[in-house]
Amino acid sequence: MTYQLPKLGYDYNALEPYIDAQTMEIHYSKHHQGYTDKMNAVLEKYPELTEEPAELMKKLDSLPLSEADKTAFRNNGGGYINHALFWQNLDPGNQKDEKLSKEIEETFGSLDDFKAKFSEAAKTQFGSGWAFLVRNSEGKLEVYSTPNQDSPLLNGHQPILALDVWEHAYYLKYQNRRPDYVEAYLKIVKLI
Ligand code: MN
Repeated sequence: MTYQLPKLGYDYNALEPYIDAQTMEIHYSKHHQGYTDKMNAVLEKYPELTEEPAELMKKLDSLPLSEADKTAFRNNGGGYINHALFWQNLDPGNQKDEKLSKEIEETFGSLDDFKAKFSEAAKTQFGSGWAFLVRNSEGKLEVYSTPNQDSPLLNGHQPILALDVWEHAYYLKYQNRRPDYVEAYLKIVKLI
């Protein structure tokens, strides 16, 4: 199976001044495209695998891939999946999800408590990685970070919010100020 870079539902400048157009363009058209191409290069070797990348990620261990290709799919399939959710979370056309917000309040105490916990996960992820809000296998909300491009699907969890904390996501505008970028994300994420 060959996958296309998922369409960005808005212009590169739509998230200014929080995320600048140049970062958006490079991040989407170079980084996300790169993960997509490299994921396709793995999947092309296994034409019998016809399920969506997210379904394959859930059962990575049992896939008939070489160890090297499992690692490549974990990294590049993860990059393909994670970025798609990241762009979607920031789509200016999205509406706030009242049901999710209520559930966040019930789980974490308040929306501010959730934001503090999510920010902490994003800021303390050492090196490259992601912060996630997920629904775990018991159906409960959880916040944590993962290294590299690891998807919560590897843990059997459904990602809901994804924040990319690789330097390529923020360095042009924020340089080393990851906390400022995390704060900006929480201002523009649409579902909460
Ligand atoms: Mn990225």
